[in-house]
Amino acid sequence: MNELEDLYREVILDHYRSPRNRGELPVPPAHRVEGYNPLCGDEVILYIDVSDGALKDIRIGGQGCSISQSSASLMSAAVKGLDVEKVRQLEHSFKTMMSIYESGPDEGDGKAPDQEPVLVDPESLGELAALQGVIKFPVRIKCATLAWNALMQGLDEIEFDHHDD
Ligand code: ZN
Repeated sequence: MNELEDLYREVILDHYRSPRNRGELPVPPAHRVEGYNPLCGDEVILYIDVSDGALKDIRIGGQGCSISQSSASLMSAAVKGLDVEKVRQLEHSFKTMMSIYESGPDEGDGKAPDQEPVLVDPESLGELAALQGVIKFPVRIKCATLAWNALMQGLDEIEFDHHDD
């Protein structure tokens, strides 16, 4: 398991040091949305370009801890070019992975008793799986999910604007 943890740590550090899709997009046509995590002071600013039901492009600004910024970078690499439907599925898988132990009691053994573990196929998450180590540090889970929450908010705002039925 240590080798895997080392690999995951490398992936996170790589995305923190060399964040993907960093920058801005012209608004409009892109949509701008911000996320803020007061627990840690993390800030994520997303520029998302959605057309024909797909997330054509995404750029990221903001600043914060290594978890929040690497998670935003990992997310951008994972969702760019996907259909919005797929983006939502990925978000669900990611949140499922991150929240397995979120509501568990603080017993410190890393296990969530009583709770049926929801299995997420790591293959479906690709590099995003690197963040699963964060669940050992419950206070950091909000750092890891910050960018995803902002992305979902942005997608909801776009859909609300368009009134497609
Ligand atoms: Zn943070």
